[in-house]
Formats: sequence, structure tokens, C-alpha cells
Amino acid sequence: MPLFDETPVRAILLDIEGTTTPVDFVSTTLFPYASGKLETFLHENYRNSEIRALLEDFRAQQQRDERGGLKPPPWHDGSEQEQVRSSAAYGQWLIARDSKCTPLKTLQGKIWQQGYASGELRGEVYPDVPPAFERWKRQGKTVFIYSSGSVLAQMLLFGSVRAGDLTPYIASFFDTYVGAKTEAESYRRIAASAGYEATQFLFLSDAGKEIEAARAAGMQALLCRREDTSGAEEGAVHAVYSFNDIFPE
Ligand SMILES: [Mg+2]
Repeated sequence: MPLFDETPVRAILLDIEGTTTPVDFVSTTLFPYASGKLETFLHENYRNSEIRALLEDFRAQQQRDERGGLKPPPWHDGSEQEQVRSSAAYGQWLIARDSKCTPLKTLQGKIWQQGYASGELRGEVYPDVPPAFERWKRQGKTVFIYSSGSVLAQMLLFGSVRAGDLTPYIASFFDTYVGAKTEAESYRRIAASAGYEATQFLFLSDAGKEIEAARAAGMQALLCRREDTSGAEEGAVHAVYSFNDIFPE
């Protein structure tokens, strides 16, 4: 039995983490990079008013965490040096806790952007991804990305993989600005914005709830199981293990 009906498919919509990219790329590459660069970055940008405002936010949040009994690293006001050290220690503590607080997200974004620009950071994709992009393009399919990471972060990732810049293969990037990945309405919006019918899409993701939402919107969708090849099936959905199986030669 075929995995999906190839006939109507003109567009391929891809999740990133767990689909194009190892699920631990963020935790094992991006987080340690930001943590290691934080103090230097704050030193270099201490006089920048936007950074100073972020540090004020950090200070207020650190006090809230202290009052809440979370035992964050202590904060020493005083010299520039002390403030930078305090903010860096607190930021590293937040990163280790996988905090989603906005000043931290903003700082991490700025540090990653520098890292990608300098070539110290590189995006990561599974080895079958670049040849699949090339093959699908030759076959006249259009590739779209939908991830909870910001569009900027997505572009930086695909722009810097070892195989080269993959962004020319991607027609558009979507983030949660179009809605949550578990809502059917988000997939309808993506289809409308991309200029295709939902039924012309094939969506790939490692999350069963996203598959269900895409199907509810009328897309075909397959569960991508990169790292878990065990037998346990996540819901009654077809699974794919490699992009080599999607529109092979
Ligand atoms: Mg995923």
C-alpha cells in the first residue's frame, strides 16, 4: 500500500525539529553556544541601550525568582563588571532551566545570529535532506517550512548547513505567527498564503498532534520517525523514516 497519494501533491510542508533536523540540535548545540558566549556578549554590548533594557528585565525577573523561592544565582549591583557577571550567571541559570522568558529569548537570538554570521554556528539537517530538496525541486514540488522557532532562526539554520545554503530551495517559512502547530486553522492559513489548495500539500512532522491538525485541514500528512524506529505506533498514521522514500527518482 502506498504511503500517500502522490498524484495531487504539489507542495511539501516540513517541520524542523525531529523531521529535517535532529530533535536535540537546540539543546546540544544552540543552548550551550548561547550559554558560553553570554558573558562576552554582554561585556561587548553593555553600552547598547537595548541590551541595557534587557538587563533591567533580567534584574526584575531575578528578584521575582528569588521571592518565589527558586534560588537563582545572587545578583551584585555595583560596577559594570559585577552587573555583567550577575546577568551572565543568571542568564546561564535560565538557559539550563530551558526558560522561555522573553529577555532571554531575545538575547539568545542575538548571540545565535552573531554565531551564524561568523560561521561558528552551523545549522544541522539529516543527510537525506539536501538531496531531497534538490530532487523535489527537479520534480516541480515546492518546499515550505513550518516550525515553532522564529522565521529568522529557521532561515539562519537552513542558510548555514554543511551542504551549503538550503534557503533557495524553500519557498516560504512559517512560524507560530500563523497559529499553533496543533490547530487545523494554521494549516489552512499556510495553504492560502502559499497559493495552493490544502489537498495539494504533503506535511511531514514527528508530532502526532500536528499530523492530525494538518489532516483536519485537508492535507495529506505522514509521521516522520527519525530516531524512534521501534514498533510502537503513535496513533493510526502512516510513518516515514527517511526523505529518500518521499518522491524517489
Ligand atoms: Mg518536530
